Amino acid sequence: MAAAATDPGGWRDRARAFAEREVVPIAAAIDRDDRIPDRVLRALADERFAGLGLPPEWDGAGGDTRATAAVLEELARASAAVAVTLAVHLAVCARPILDHGTDAQKERFLRPLARGERIGAFALTEPGAGSDSAALTTRYQRRPEGFTLRGTKMFTSNAVSAGTVLVFATHDPTLGHRGISAFIVPPGTGGFSVAQRLDKLGLRGSETTELVLDDVRLPPDALLGSEGSGLRIALEALTGGRVGIASCALGVAQAAFDTLRDAVRRDDAEWKRIRLARAYAELASARSLIEVAAARKDRGEPYVREASVAKLVASRAAVSIASAGIDVGGPAAARAEAAASRLYRDARVFPIVEGTTEIQELILGRSLAAGSDGRTDN
Ligand SMILES: Cc1cc2nc3c(=O)[nH]c(=O)nc-3n(C[C@H](O)[C@H](O)[C@H](O)COP(=O)(O)OP(=O)(O)OC[C@H]3O[C@@H](n4cnc5c(N)ncnc54)[C@H](O)[C@@H]3O)c2cc1C
Repeated sequence: MAAAATDPGGWRDRARAFAEREVVPIAAAIDRDDRIPDRVLRALADERFAGLGLPPEWDGAGGDTRATAAVLEELARASAAVAVTLAVHLAVCARPILDHGTDAQKERFLRPLARGERIGAFALTEPGAGSDSAALTTRYQRRPEGFTLRGTKMFTSNAVSAGTVLVFATHDPTLGHRGISAFIVPPGTGGFSVAQRLDKLGLRGSETTELVLDDVRLPPDALLGSEGSGLRIALEALTGGRVGIASCALGVAQAAFDTLRDAVRRDDAEWKRIRLARAYAELASARSLIEVAAARKDRGEPYVREASVAKLVASRAAVSIASAGIDVGGPAAARAEAAASRLYRDARVFPIVEGTTEIQELILGRSLAAGSDGRTDN
């Protein structure tokens, strides 16, 4: 009974068993080779994780935000790359199609994503437009037979294997956010190519790429939502995505905490105990903030501020606890192949993805300055 109350649907238990069986044995190889084996992605689909949070009506697996957070945390505890691949697929590709797609688009694009037959990607960032996404310059033109896209996208996760990429483009850069629309680009679309796969500090195994869109021709039904609503769709997806990325950071923080605790048990020098205590406080705050944000989202309440603070605190906790793991582990922990080193490198990327720390602070500052007293119930 108690397990069911804290883990409705048994998602956390299933994810932990899956991670231990399929991911832990190859986590170091994923990092070293910078590649997640296809069989792991297929196994994720077989477990129905690729359809988490999506309704059965569209072949989703059900489960709420809390269930998704638990699954991402357990996967990230084993491999941050695997968890982030799933987080991006669910929150910033499948979810916006569910929320803004027509039934025909859901039939064609959402079903295969929910079944895990295709991986989803989200292409907003460009070489000259990251935090300020309204400054993007990838252009679209209306044509009688649909749309044409031209431009370059940067840091797109999942794009090599992706079956479906959401691409954001502007009709006219002088219109700012009002000019931006979202397009669903299916696999094999002409003119759409991966220019380079980026070699990263952390989250190695999660594909991060530069994409080139060279006269990509799309039919009229590639447009997601209405023209001009693209940035709203992107920002809404990123808010949900922050709860997922916070959960991935929490999984890395938990793995780093476990390693730290084992080290302190072997040698409980006072300074190490203090680091462990500090790590516990950071971990517990991150976990509580994620629970608050996920519960608000599940109740249909506003959660922009809660998602931002959860992402901010969880990514800081991951960096801080993984850094303590290096201090306590000594020179052996600093070797590239050491688990502590991988956790630190993975953790260091979380303050950047799906809105940097400074962007979360801007969102929070705006909300607090607008009159909120900082309680979660207003
Ligand atoms: C591993 C990885 C995966 C990613 N996956 C995706 C993806 O799938 N799809 C996608 O579209 N993007 C993706 N990104 C891109 C990511 O979202 C951007 O890197 C991020 O939004 C920051 O943009 P930028 O890198 O251009 O940095 P910039 O926006 O140039 O920021 C540089 C620095 O300036 C700070 N800064 C910027 N503006 C302000 C401001 N107004 N006030 C204070 N400080 C500011 C930032 O916080 C940062 O520290 C990914 C990035 C990484 C590293």
